[in-house]
Amino acid sequence: MDSPQSQQSNNQLHVVFLPYPSAGHMNPMIDTARLFAKHGVNVTIITTHANASRFQKSIDSDISLGYSIKTQLLQFPSAQVGLPDGVENSNDATSREMLSKVTRGVWMLRDSIEVLFQELQPDCIVTDMKYPWTVESAAKLNIPRIYFCSSSYFSECAIYFVRKYKPHYNLVSDTQKFTIPCLPHTIEMTRQQLCDWELENNAMKAIFEPMYESAERSYGSLYNSFHELENDYEKLCKSTIGIKSWSVGPVSAWANKDDERKANRGHMEKSLGKQTELLNWLNSKQNESVLYVSFGSLTRLPHAQLVEIAHGLENSGHNFIWVIKKDDKDEDGEGFLQKFEERMKESNKGYIIWNWAPQLLILDHPATGGIVTHCGWNSTLESLNAGLPMITWPVFAEQFYNEKLLVDVLKIGVPVGAKENKLWINISEEEVVRREEIAMAVKILMGSCQESKEMRMRAKKLGDAAKRTIEEGGDSYNNLIQLIDELKSLKKYKALGENAD
Ligand code: UDP
Repeated sequence: MDSPQSQQSNNQLHVVFLPYPSAGHMNPMIDTARLFAKHGVNVTIITTHANASRFQKSIDSDISLGYSIKTQLLQFPSAQVGLPDGVENSNDATSREMLSKVTRGVWMLRDSIEVLFQELQPDCIVTDMKYPWTVESAAKLNIPRIYFCSSSYFSECAIYFVRKYKPHYNLVSDTQKFTIPCLPHTIEMTRQQLCDWELENNAMKAIFEPMYESAERSYGSLYNSFHELENDYEKLCKSTIGIKSWSVGPVSAWANKDDERKANRGHMEKSLGKQTELLNWLNSKQNESVLYVSFGSLTRLPHAQLVEIAHGLENSGHNFIWVIKKDDKDEDGEGFLQKFEERMKESNKGYIIWNWAPQLLILDHPATGGIVTHCGWNSTLESLNAGLPMITWPVFAEQFYNEKLLVDVLKIGVPVGAKENKLWINISEEEVVRREEIAMAVKILMGSCQESKEMRMRAKKLGDAAKRTIEEGGDSYNNLIQLIDELKSLKKYKALGENAD
């Protein structure tokens, strides 16, 4: 790692990062930006005020250590899109209407971002997959654009071949299975499990198609993944999409090595007392005896589903921590969740966290033995890094593909039986996963049968590999160094060319 003092030269590589405002996209990009800074790169992160406040603590601590990293703030057009001040992130949206206003606000920032690119004159831009237009911005500046993928190689390959060969066409029903062509494993899906934009020409398709096309027109792509996890799919992705790519994950483990930073990350509720209470609770439990239940930063479940989860967890007999969004509590008609929380406090079996959990802290605690996950890629990697097996409960987007990777390829997941890919806003009270299915999956995952022992062993092996890959000499470590060196060389050749003109 470069010493901070050696970063002060004028010839220092300057890379601008442009994250998309939603935890699943922003967290891994901020972690990656911080890793670039720690390896001697001058880093600028473009974002808006409220979004910066979610990660500023970590940046300040990097700055205090002498690293060259800063945020460049833009004004979110709250009034123009009709959102209250401070609502600038998809995670703040509690309805479809709010979500589309946040999206519109982000689109409206395009001109200001272009101006900033021109002013900053970086040597490279690393932009979220959701900003396909940045390919043109980079071309204007004659610099590389790196496509930052916030999901797996596996899902990128699956989406590529589903888009190309349309194996879901001409089936007799939405529940008939089809095999995704050209993948190294036999992966069966149903039409119900695909994203709506893969099925029809809707508004989302107009967003996703340019995104995937922009990947193919980028200089290269960055993945929060690592060699041992999905090497076959990394190779396949490189050969099908046809651009360079670098796996530098798991970035959360790499960038947040000490506990204080883990707690800082995206932590909206700043109560230290609450955190101590949580840690005391975890410390009182036996190793690997607690199941962590979380549906990520976006998904809000209907009340009927929360009731089923509560009963399923209670009936399983295992210890658990369950993260429930605050507005779920607001809709808690009969006070069911309040009573459930009180009952769990009395029995000491369950710990409810309202709204936002210090996820990295919980996953890395020795008492945690498994996770119920919606298969968001970040939560998946964070659990993998902790060597935890998972109950897979995909909800929307590419999460159903990630479930296939966990269950069919890596064999570290127990599917709860989620059937339909639906934006959480559209899930109805009738479509819930039943308490019996939930309790059964928990018993398999947390139990001591051969199947769960073997799953646990495989997950631990992957966790060890995840830790090795980010150490000096590991694959992800080397990939990051190699990418930075390549960008430095490009900068040098560009400067030589300009001097010759
Ligand atoms: N996260 C967290 N606490 C929470 C919920 C989410 O720290 O209570 C973090 C989690 O660690 C991960 C990100 O938010 O880094 C969620 O990303 P993921 O890809 O798992 O799912 P998404 O939220 O995009 O559906």
